[in-house]
Amino acid sequence: ASMLVVLPFILLAALAVGWLLSSWALRPVGQMIDELEAITDGRSLHRRLPASGGRPDELGRLANTLNAMMARLETSFAALRRFVADASHELKTPLTVMRAGVERALADPRTAPEALVPLEETLQEVRRMTELVDALLTLARVDEGRLELHKAPTDLCGLVAEVYETGQMLGEEAGLDVTLEMPEGPIVADVDAGRMRQLVMNLVTNAVKYTPAGGGVWLTLTATPEAANIAVRDSGIGIAPGDVGLVFDRFWRADSARSRTGERPGIGLGLSIGKWIAEAHGGALAVTSRPGRGSSFTVTVPRSVYSQATVIES
Ligand code: ADP
Repeated sequence: ASMLVVLPFILLAALAVGWLLSSWALRPVGQMIDELEAITDGRSLHRRLPASGGRPDELGRLANTLNAMMARLETSFAALRRFVADASHELKTPLTVMRAGVERALADPRTAPEALVPLEETLQEVRRMTELVDALLTLARVDEGRLELHKAPTDLCGLVAEVYETGQMLGEEAGLDVTLEMPEGPIVADVDAGRMRQLVMNLVTNAVKYTPAGGGVWLTLTATPEAANIAVRDSGIGIAPGDVGLVFDRFWRADSARSRTGERPGIGLGLSIGKWIAEAHGGALAVTSRPGRGSSFTVTVPRSVYSQATVIES
């Protein structure tokens, strides 16, 4: 009878000990999973799991094996990036030579008239390839962490006005109204002017490209003491709700824009580079869109203390 009374307690105790033991033994595994989950993409491959950290032998070995695997992955990722960077760099010179040659032939009065059309088409393709190679090189450098920003206090009003001028010409060709709205400048921010112009120019080019004739494109610059906002809005084809999250992905293009050479040529790298540029400035690039109604892209860049001071003085 006493056995019957004691047995449940022994069982309970055994269960408790078992539970404690297994959770104690599994805790390092949980930790390891957390650490592995933090290694999410090619850019965090330099991380390693702590080798021992009071782990049982088998887990220590597992950590070492995983670390060795990550080291190999890291090496091949780096080699891949190097390869893309080197290949794009090597392609630049022959492309420049080709372009110069075709341009010379086009300008030469002795060139047969029937050769002009194919030459013109070749020039288009060479331009497109140059753009692609430039974009690939930029992204390869971004991935390698070797792309530097040359920041300097810049008047964004001047920068936006410049982009607007080019945008107006593009708009005229496409039969679109391009409108500029901005306050009396200057609005100074600490930015890489070349990269910032590239970003805004890309947004305006896209707005014109994805808006049918008769529509409009609005370029606006606004500022608060902390940040400057450059928005590019269009009344164009818009982006499907399910696609809005994808526009910043590399090589992504909406189905309607898929063909690289059709009426809306492109490579699908402009926005991913643009997002990097905005974020590298400590800012952001955001999008809202309604299919058939239009899209709006907004760049936000923080204004440094120094540039605020410049504004107050001027
Ligand atoms: P590209 O214009 O060379 O295709 P981007 O990276 O600039 O590459 O844009 C990626 C895709 O996002 C485009 O192919 C297009 O489908 C979509 N997109 C970008 N801007 C707009 C816009 N203003 N209106 C509608 N779709 C857009």
